[in-house]
Amino acid sequence: MVLARWGGCAYCSGPAEVLDHVRPFEHGGRDVESNLVAACHRCNGLKSSLSLAEWAVTANTERE
Ligand SMILES: [Zn+2]
Repeated sequence: MVLARWGGCAYCSGPAEVLDHVRPFEHGGRDVESNLVAACHRCNGLKSSLSLAEWAVTANTERE
């Protein structure tokens, strides 16, 4: 089970429930292990298809 390699969600302290693409397919990401991290359902849903950098910006400007 590949999820077991991560101790939990890469973005928060939640459980490792799904595999998330660090670089989404739309941004040229590939379905390789180096492009995958574990995430919880909540973070995976929030991040959606944004790249990690885009998502970080979005998360920091949510109060706008
Ligand atoms: Zn999370």
